[in-house]
Amino acid sequence: MALSKEIYRELEDIVGEEFICSDPAIMPSYHGSDLGAVVLPENTVQVQAIVKTCNRYKLQFSAVATGWTGSFKKDIVYIDMRRMNRIIEINEKNMYAVIEPYVITAELQAECFKKGLHFNVKGAGSNCSAMLRGHGHLDQSTSGDDRNHLAIEWVTPEGEIVRSGALGSTDEWFCGDGPGPSIRAILTSAVPPGVTPGVFTKAAIKLYHWAGPPKYDIQGLSPKYTLPEVPKNMMARYYSFPSVEKMWQAEIRLGENEICMELMGFNVSMVAANIATCNEDDERIFKRLNKEKKGPGFFVIIAGNSDNDFAFKKKALEQIVREAEGESMKSLEDPETEGILIAQCTRVTASIRETFRAGGAFSSIPIMSQRDLTIKWAIGAGEAKLPLIKAGHIVDDGGAFFGWGVEQGHVGKTEIFCKFDPANEKAKAAVEKWSKEQGRRAFDESYFALMMGEVSDDIKANMCHYDKWWIALTRAFDPNDVAPQGGPLV
Ligand SMILES: Cc1cc2nc3c(=O)[nH]c(=O)nc-3n(C[C@H](O)[C@H](O)[C@H](O)COP(=O)(O)OP(=O)(O)OC[C@H]3O[C@@H](n4cnc5c(N)ncnc54)[C@H](O)[C@@H]3O)c2cc1C
Repeated sequence: MALSKEIYRELEDIVGEEFICSDPAIMPSYHGSDLGAVVLPENTVQVQAIVKTCNRYKLQFSAVATGWTGSFKKDIVYIDMRRMNRIIEINEKNMYAVIEPYVITAELQAECFKKGLHFNVKGAGSNCSAMLRGHGHLDQSTSGDDRNHLAIEWVTPEGEIVRSGALGSTDEWFCGDGPGPSIRAILTSAVPPGVTPGVFTKAAIKLYHWAGPPKYDIQGLSPKYTLPEVPKNMMARYYSFPSVEKMWQAEIRLGENEICMELMGFNVSMVAANIATCNEDDERIFKRLNKEKKGPGFFVIIAGNSDNDFAFKKKALEQIVREAEGESMKSLEDPETEGILIAQCTRVTASIRETFRAGGAFSSIPIMSQRDLTIKWAIGAGEAKLPLIKAGHIVDDGGAFFGWGVEQGHVGKTEIFCKFDPANEKAKAAVEKWSKEQGRRAFDESYFALMMGEVSDDIKANMCHYDKWWIALTRAFDPNDVAPQGGPLV
């Protein structure tokens, strides 16, 4: 339903007639034909005015960056952030960047690479907002999720402007916790469904050292890109091991010695998807790699700051892998494959291929915990998949799980997949049962689980009734009930 003329005019006065729309021919190109209107603010003051107008008329609103995800209610004011696309500052000395919501990762990365800097790129990819938190390929050396946010500018659901951390007292962006108000626990940022109500208008994110080239010389066309040569002092390898335990010991030692820029516990089906140029190719490569692998494995990228540093990292990597009885998969050492894996996994264009690889829909359970516990959980969840593979309900994807280290292995993250045919009711039911049981196991065995789906009352009670606190918080911040109902799952 379109907005009343009066409200439409008020919003139009804020952003200008060019930057508001409720045309039924245009609305479906956003997230649906039943939106109230789309508005495109240019700055924080306009965002604040829009939010205040929504409060006055008790109209719900949602802010959207690139719109990769998120489901939106009917009749809302859809705040399209695409005009707020400025890189405000890249602070080389203190290693942070201040950006607006519609700066996408690819843009910020290109600017940072030139200065020998980099940041955590969420696995969703380089065309998503660089400002919203996430995790992915580079977590081993750049940490992940909310660990990378420093000070934030936030328009609350009532339309107040809150400047968190150092920004609140010194006008500087270097710290998210102080001096000044630290509201880090509330500003969980926006990875659905954990969406903070209100609108983020600027954020400082941490930058890290980048030892790679200032620019990749990518050639070719999608889906087959190539690099003319492997970048100097960089190397990518996939190692497979006789057992999960051996693999895990190697992962821990690599983390302790801070050898890898990336350490991603792919299964071979995900590797195949990153090399393939079509589904048939994907199946062929997967079958070949599945035969070639010794057992479970992981993918690494190392990057040396100098010839000597590279030689040291390579030697240490090879020794640690050898002592854990791991072996490099020879066919992946081909420089064309190696080069493109380096580019895809650091830029990050890899996840989209992994997620939509051939073989059907998937269900996944993400778990984050102390590194040893995630592995322990994943081994059990992988074993529980075997009867489903045997019964033909799910695809054998060549490995129990995929997991990766965060902050050189201080924390471990695991996501375990079940690939299945969504049209097969039996398979769907079996996967749902597996998912529920293994999610529950994660909690019962005291791992921290990022639970997807319904969370039972005893789990909520055991986790300090976080659901009640979240509801109380959002009511306090959003008395008119106009902001997106996100937050932790309740
Ligand atoms: C194929 C695929 C793979 C993925 N893989 C990963 C992964 O490996 N790691 C990972 O971390 N995530 C992953 N995701 C989830 C991903 O993080 C989000 O999809 C991503 O953040 C969305 O893009 P965006 O950042 O541009 O946000 P949008 O899609 O625009 O928004 C995401 C949510 O944040 C809200 N939002 C947007 N902008 C603002 C703002 N300025 N203020 C307040 N709220 C706002 C939106 O309302 C929405 O609910 C994946 C998603 C897909 C579809």
